[in-house]
Amino acid sequence: MRNFTWNGQPGRVVFGAGVLAQLAPEIERLGARRALVLCTPEQRGIAERVAGLLGDRCAGVYDRAVMHVPIETAREARAQAQSLGADCAVAVGGGSTTGLGKAIALESGLPILCIPTTYAGSEMTPIYGITEAGLKKTGKDARVLPRTVLYDPELTRSLPAGLSVTSGLNAIAHAAEGLYAVDGNPVMDLMAQEGIAALGRALPGIVRDPSDLGARSDALYGAWLCGVVLGNVSMALHHKLCHTLGGSFDLPHAETHTVVLPHALAYNAVAAPQAMERIARALGGTSGPRAVQDLARRLGAPVALRDLGLAQADLDRACDIALQNQYPNPRPLERAALRQLLQDAWEGAPPAA
Ligand code: NAD
Repeated sequence: MRNFTWNGQPGRVVFGAGVLAQLAPEIERLGARRALVLCTPEQRGIAERVAGLLGDRCAGVYDRAVMHVPIETAREARAQAQSLGADCAVAVGGGSTTGLGKAIALESGLPILCIPTTYAGSEMTPIYGITEAGLKKTGKDARVLPRTVLYDPELTRSLPAGLSVTSGLNAIAHAAEGLYAVDGNPVMDLMAQEGIAALGRALPGIVRDPSDLGARSDALYGAWLCGVVLGNVSMALHHKLCHTLGGSFDLPHAETHTVVLPHALAYNAVAAPQAMERIARALGGTSGPRAVQDLARRLGAPVALRDLGLAQADLDRACDIALQNQYPNPRPLERAALRQLLQDAWEGAPPAA
């Protein structure tokens, strides 16, 4: 048994079909009286439902959350929270909406109650990101960790099958990298393997029938576990590559994770064989990287960066950026091998053996 440090994160989770109905008592539990509801423009309908459940504890709805939390949006939402006298933020939606809640909490310390409707996992982490002048800056702050999370699989039934698959593979990426994290621990390993297995089981069922509540429950359970891993241990090469590709080349978040993960795992396979075994076991395959790509292919998800709009001419620059600011990774970063990884991901080749 290796040595490890365990640092429990506070936070309350209420899980199950229909738990949205418990919103009012959960807000009361936080001692809040005026909650500002946050959502994207597309999710205004569910935000109105949330506002209705809050009744006179709802201060208003802010419906302009967008991907990557532009500083202008964060400022506008903070100003609205202040002018309405909000004492709590309720974020209903995916990682973009949760991210906006975090941007408000970062300045004001307002508690966040989160109602996730994708599998991104941001609700389980103290990590925030704000984009200013085209540059996304991320940081960690205990104030942005949501106090309460209501996981209601009913609310994920409307997430289209394609988005569900890429969002689920985004979650699997958190767990997969958690399995070889420099600061990993045995509890995270258990959660990571179980999270990957739950999503591996659930995603085919969702593709068959997006309204299947059993599959939706399994997927949200898996996403929760994978989010806990993301919030507790350090991510490595895969997340760095996706951050680079998303931030500098404007590639879509979950799809980029889906394409890159098998290749990042293949790169690290020699240095992290036990992690690969756990991934393979969780997905019922013989090779971790292959099992991840097979799952994506079988479910019709993208497997090539060229299909996400990245030009081949950008691969050298992506490689240069990924080599900047070295960070812990089980296998040292080598330019030629990293460039080959990007080439393979661009072409949609099978992950290197
Ligand atoms: P998203 O929040 O941008 O949502 C994608 C789209 O799906 C939006 O249009 C949204 O309105 C819609 N949508 C969400 N749930 C739906 C549902 N149930 N039914 C129908 N439509 C629905 O996407 P995401 O992948 O959840 O989040 C991505 C963002 O989250 C990125 O900016 C990423 O950096 C961030 N993120 C942050 C962390 C963290 O720890 N800080 C972790 C993961 C992701």
